[in-house]
Amino acid sequence: MHSPLYPWLHGEFARFHALRTQGRMPHALLVSGEPGLGQGQLAMRLAQATLCQRPLADGQACGQCGSCHPFLVGAHPDFSLLAPKEKDNKDDEASQGKKVKDTKDKDIKIDAVRDFCAGLYLSSSFQHGKVGVIEPADAMNPAAANSLLKTLEEPPAGTLIILVTSHPARLPITIRSRCQRWLVPIPERTTALAWLAHQPQLAGEDPARVLDLAEGRPLAALELAEPERLAQRSRWLESLLHLLRAGGNPLALAASQDKTEWPQLLHWCRLLLADLIRLQGAEHTPTAAMNLVNRDFADVLAPLAARLNARELFGLYDYLLELSRLINHPLNRELLMEELLIRFQRLGG
Ligand SMILES: [Zn+2]
Repeated sequence: MHSPLYPWLHGEFARFHALRTQGRMPHALLVSGEPGLGQGQLAMRLAQATLCQRPLADGQACGQCGSCHPFLVGAHPDFSLLAPKEKDNKDDEASQGKKVKDTKDKDIKIDAVRDFCAGLYLSSSFQHGKVGVIEPADAMNPAAANSLLKTLEEPPAGTLIILVTSHPARLPITIRSRCQRWLVPIPERTTALAWLAHQPQLAGEDPARVLDLAEGRPLAALELAEPERLAQRSRWLESLLHLLRAGGNPLALAASQDKTEWPQLLHWCRLLLADLIRLQGAEHTPTAAMNLVNRDFADVLAPLAARLNARELFGLYDYLLELSRLINHPLNRELLMEELLIRFQRLGG
């Protein structure tokens, strides 16, 4: 059995089904969107539905036919999934809350892409074409991405290649231009909240609160709802607030953070600054009516916002956006993180 398609992806699936029934399916799709929207599941469902021998009326795979069975156990001869070798391992460790080493083996290398492409040229076993999914496609190193170009340009007949990424800009333009772009949007709030409310992992946590912390991304919200995550957020916000009160040591704080967590920490920095900006723009509005994301810190944030310099606050927000783009650059990210925290402290002082 396969788990149900995330409710906010039904519209996306319907788009795909319409293209297929109209015979307008492209050879290559680039499925992108913010992390935590289930793009990977969508790609797998498109793949399974393409290969299914008895698709349902809405185009979804039946889950039971002679094609769905091998697909669901990862043994379909006409399907290949290309992912970094360590991916499964990493996911397991992440779910257990262990620290994951920041190694370069998360790359998809040229040999793996060559094998993947060679597989697509073999004749199909079930007469429903061949499908290949690459996830995350931005894990391909430049040589690997180059070796995919030829196949993207002239794919074998009846082939569908689906690239999945949350960072399309990291893919070479030559790759992007050969795929039909498919952006998964942030779902409607009511859809996301209804789904979250039924997740046992939420364990009493308010769905609206974690959805706001995840900026509307349901799967990211579920991850954030883990007690350890929420505790980590509280500790980090306390540290930032300490800096804003001109206390603490920004360099020591930067050095003490796990580098693999930096994107998450920057996300929380940004939400904090956005709340401070909101508060500054509405001095006489009661905080309860302000839709703050960090509602649990509202009492501390309101008086703090009143004494910060608005121009410097906006300046720091802009710097943070820039930093979020550069954070994967290994050469200077330590310096960038230190600079950010120093500026946090200066803002308060
Ligand atoms: Zn089927």
